[in-house]
Amino acid sequence: MAIADPIDEAAVKFVNSPHKILIGSDWVDAASGKTFETYNPATGEVLANVAEGTSEDIDRAVKTARATFDAQTWTKMKPNERSRIIHRIGDLMLEHADELAALESLDNGKPLAIARAADVELAADIFHYMSGWVTKIEGNTIPISVPYMPGAEFHAYTLKDPIGVVGQIIPWNFPLLMAAWKLSPALAAGVTVILKPAEQTPLSALRLAELILEAGVPPGVVNVVTGAGDAGAALAAHDDVDKVAFTGSTEVGKEIVRAAAGNLKKLTLELGGKSPNIVFSDADMETAIPGAANAIFFNHGQCCSAGSRLYVESKDFDDVLQGVTDHAKSIKVGSGQDPQTEMGPLVSQEQLDRVCGYFESGRDEGAEFATGGQRKGDKGYFVEPTVLTHTNPNMKVEAEEIFGPVVTVSPFKNADDVMPTANTSTYGLAAGVWTKDISKAHRIAKQLRAGTVWVNCYNVFDASLPFGGYKESGWGREMGHEVLNNYLEVKSVVTQL
Ligand code: NAP
Ligand code: MG
Repeated sequence: MAIADPIDEAAVKFVNSPHKILIGSDWVDAASGKTFETYNPATGEVLANVAEGTSEDIDRAVKTARATFDAQTWTKMKPNERSRIIHRIGDLMLEHADELAALESLDNGKPLAIARAADVELAADIFHYMSGWVTKIEGNTIPISVPYMPGAEFHAYTLKDPIGVVGQIIPWNFPLLMAAWKLSPALAAGVTVILKPAEQTPLSALRLAELILEAGVPPGVVNVVTGAGDAGAALAAHDDVDKVAFTGSTEVGKEIVRAAAGNLKKLTLELGGKSPNIVFSDADMETAIPGAANAIFFNHGQCCSAGSRLYVESKDFDDVLQGVTDHAKSIKVGSGQDPQTEMGPLVSQEQLDRVCGYFESGRDEGAEFATGGQRKGDKGYFVEPTVLTHTNPNMKVEAEEIFGPVVTVSPFKNADDVMPTANTSTYGLAAGVWTKDISKAHRIAKQLRAGTVWVNCYNVFDASLPFGGYKESGWGREMGHEVLNNYLEVKSVVTQL
């Protein structure tokens, strides 16, 4: 177990402890007895061995989640008590913030300081935010008319009912934050959960599950089955699962849609993106240029919302290209545990191969590299921050989600010229607009076919703000009070008086 030296002691202890599956109150080995290895992306060395759950373990976890849901173990607790427990999860996360950040940095590769300042803070915050909703999940009284029953009188109202047993499948780019985005509304709504973390990054979700039990969530409400894609597939296909919430690739999202057809389970999908970021000449370039660079390079470009298609009004094209290129060249790439590091390694060998494949594809299709385009070093999964020009929407590098620190930069004449190109993608997750003209900003924001539009900023997330995609970027929304509807059924109750 090779771990960089100056790292949180509690995190090292956790990494070196056994990593099992959580079913009810029990931490158990996989039914097969097998484990899989996770790697430190900065070195490519083995970090931990983790129980390799498969369909048998998923089945056991679903049975426990079903029994816990049917027993109403969680929902029969008073809302204010559940609220306090969910709030306590957020508190415990902040108490263990350094440990969680260290786990995230080791497992995913991201810089420790960023994991601490962004991932852990946001993850704790959504538990605090969602805790407030438990006491506010309300139905309505509805004045019904029933025209074919003249003279009859009714009292009608709606109830919001937890949806039942929920499978949650999450990716590796923000392992702790994605677990928090999924688990916090589920707990607020009163469902029971089987969480399947990504095989590359299971550690922080396992530690979070310990904190969830410590906070007082009854055993069986949250179950965690670590494993590979087949464990996720078993969850998506399981007949006793009422709903699946998935974040990951559009390709797997479509497989989940097919798997869910068996029992018509409800689905929400938060999938990929290829987000346009539009810089007008009347923007404040002092914020727009670093903003455009951060839009793509934050989290090594491993963001579903990454501003990966940069469009710049022609007369400022050269300046913005130069500025973003200089920014890319200045980024300190290194181990996430090195305090100087601004960009860590990609998460895995698979992602390294994938991103390097796009470098090749860009070269083959005639893109020009303003900077980058290579793997960095020969140890760990590092790549150079990369800026491409001379691309078009038919080229793979401008059409497909790369999920790495690679941006295409293209000129445009005016708003009418850029809008069709900006909306041309099969994705519709996010978009950015940079201008000082507020009318133009809001007009463009309205025209963009994207679930989030950032004006003069990028990658701004908040627990209270819905996030999700148009088109092939998904179904439904995460966060805000919108997300609670994903976990609630609406029941109409009608009484004739
Ligand atoms: P992925 O395969 O979609 O993985 C996401 C989650 O789904 C993981 O927990 C994964 O398990 C699980 N999974 C895999 N196959 C499944 C199946 N057939 N049924 C149910 N669950 C399944 O994503 P990836 O392969 O790690 O990354 C590939 C690409 O997806 C990236 O390059 C990027 O383009 C995109 N991506 C998008 C997001 C996002 O936030 N929207 C996040 C990550 C990746 P395993 O971990 O075992 O595979
Ligand atoms: Mg995969």
